[in-house]
Amino acid sequence: MLRDNYRHKGMRRLLIDELRSDGITDESILTAMASLPRHFFLDKAFEEWAYRNKPFPIGNKQTISQPYTVAVQTSLLEVQPREKILEVGTGSGYQAAILALLGARVFTIERQELLYNRAKELLKELNFRNIRCFLKDGYKGLPEFAPFDKILVTAGAKEIPAALKEQLKIGGLLVIPVGQNGQQMLRLTRISESQFETEDFGRFRFVPLLEGIQKEDSLNGD
Ligand code: SAH
Repeated sequence: MLRDNYRHKGMRRLLIDELRSDGITDESILTAMASLPRHFFLDKAFEEWAYRNKPFPIGNKQTISQPYTVAVQTSLLEVQPREKILEVGTGSGYQAAILALLGARVFTIERQELLYNRAKELLKELNFRNIRCFLKDGYKGLPEFAPFDKILVTAGAKEIPAALKEQLKIGGLLVIPVGQNGQQMLRLTRISESQFETEDFGRFRFVPLLEGIQKEDSLNGD
């Protein structure tokens, strides 16, 4: 059973204060993060870690992003209610849940079957009806549901996948960390069919964006 007690709530309030002092100003994002129990997205044994401003392992060499990083990426997306948002890298499902709490219709892709299954179950248990999970290679995006108002990549990409640029609406935003061994947080705005404007929001560190799908039984893969 998932329980959110006064101790969790207290730790969460402190985390939100920390994000505020680190320069996160968007109140709707802080409110969403204050309302969502991050400890639901970690293994129960590690509950204590859920409210530190740190990334944390979620199995198969993957991590739930640091709360600060979630707040920054979410701010850069400038989410509006009812927008169609594609997330690449479901991981724990936490970031997808934050986007959904902001009123977006979320399509989220994960390449590791184990994480996909876990996140899908959890988001269902938490009653997130506006999140759809897909076990696919996010490099290719989700052409059958394109175009998207916004696209968010939560793994470090060597280069920007062409499919993601193609699946963005004109006027839409693509937020993606790009680079090896540390990434630059880029935001592309699609100005026209063929033109994109790029802004750089500094250095972050993500697990790599990898190609292809990893089935549940190959636990010692990447
Ligand atoms: N957004 C997540 C954190 C993601 S960590 C959260 O809130 O918890 C990055 C995730 O991207 C990992 O789960 C990794 O398996 C996944 N990933 C990496 N390459 C991918 C690809 N090509 N397509 C889909 N998911 C990918």
